[in-house]
Amino acid sequence: MTLPGSPFVAYRDAALHLDGVPLDALADRFGTPLYVYSQAAMLAALAPYQRALAGRKHLVCYAMKANSNLAVLQTFAQAGCGFDIVSGGELERVLAAGGDAGKVVFSGVGKTRGEMRRALAAGVRCFNVESEAELEVLSEVAVSLGRRAPVSLRVNPDVDAKTHPYISTGLKGNKFGIAHDRAVAAYRRAAALPGLEVVGIDCHIGSQITQTSPYLDALERVLDLVEEVEAAGVPIHHLDLGGGLGIRYTDEEPPGADAMIAQLLARIEARGHGHREVIFEPGRSLVGNAGVLVTEVLYLKPGAQRNFCIVDAAMNDLMRPAMYEAYMATAACRLRDEAPVRYDVVGPVCESGDWLARDRDLAVRQGDRLAILSAGAYGMSMASNYNTRGRPAEVMIADGQAHLIRERETPAELFRGERLLPTP
Ligand SMILES: *Cc1c(COP(=O)(O)O)cnc(C)c1O
Repeated sequence: MTLPGSPFVAYRDAALHLDGVPLDALADRFGTPLYVYSQAAMLAALAPYQRALAGRKHLVCYAMKANSNLAVLQTFAQAGCGFDIVSGGELERVLAAGGDAGKVVFSGVGKTRGEMRRALAAGVRCFNVESEAELEVLSEVAVSLGRRAPVSLRVNPDVDAKTHPYISTGLKGNKFGIAHDRAVAAYRRAAALPGLEVVGIDCHIGSQITQTSPYLDALERVLDLVEEVEAAGVPIHHLDLGGGLGIRYTDEEPPGADAMIAQLLARIEARGHGHREVIFEPGRSLVGNAGVLVTEVLYLKPGAQRNFCIVDAAMNDLMRPAMYEAYMATAACRLRDEAPVRYDVVGPVCESGDWLARDRDLAVRQGDRLAILSAGAYGMSMASNYNTRGRPAEVMIADGQAHLIRERETPAELFRGERLLPTP
């Protein structure tokens, strides 16, 4: 039986394993719902980025909103990565995990003054500025601290959505980045402001991209701009080409990071920009296939039109199906020699949108566990406490051992900060 996604997820005999560890045993030990990650799978996903960029000035900044557990950050920090952050909270996580602020790029359309101050004090590598108004505020904040903020402008390359339907953030008409035709003026302004130092250019065109061509299109547009901006007298040091490379959830066939980067580097060289430092901001492609969500079958509920497999994980634990109608592969943690039945896999939350998988043929009984595959990215990091449900525990397999890297939340923790009104 073949499973989509990671070679680290496989059946041995009839038991589903992640990175050599049986998932049923982890569910017995840590309870469900349970996120389980493989450190080796994360490092294996990073390797093609590092291979493709070896021997040239580069930085891989893990886009930590995909999975921001401290042990995940520690794994990438120790492997030499920097981080792409989108909030002050994420910066605190990087520092708590032993990451280097000097390798952090700070993205996001709505940075507050407080976040800017903290990031300047910590010494981040670069602010990826997303609007002309933000340039003004960042300069003011930097001047007030007697500093100059290193900046890169996130430009919106407006690559054609018709040919590349997966692109959602690099088009005119969305909130991200500075429009291509405003970019030169914005760079001139940045260079003139007393609190800023221009260091680079940045774009990030979307997520779950499964072809190389949108990256190549965006690159041409970015290099055109670099040439115009430098002709206007503003030198640009680094090229940050963002993240967004897709993974296999079912039958997608995204290019390997090494093949994709090799093509980009070839174009960068060919256009005479080979001396520049290159930065990438991968998120999903480093962690997505390195994790699963293990959940227990609570009830089987046959129906006239649909059969429901009610599990103990829900939309609050894994939002992608409810939010994007995303397809997540499911696999029984123990194979049964029984005829499969077609189920919708749903959670206990009081919303009809609370489903994890639809129309899946499963041979399961009450009390069995299911693994939702490719759940390492945008799983736990998007989890909520809706319905006053504690978020799942998280386990990392490293060197063959399972480590608890986040405890399951208890009900008391969920309302710890709340206060009753005074009683008369
Ligand atoms: C989310 C994000 C990324 C990472 O996207 P993935 O699809 O997870 O690789 C990179 N850069 C920025 C600015 C982002 O917002």
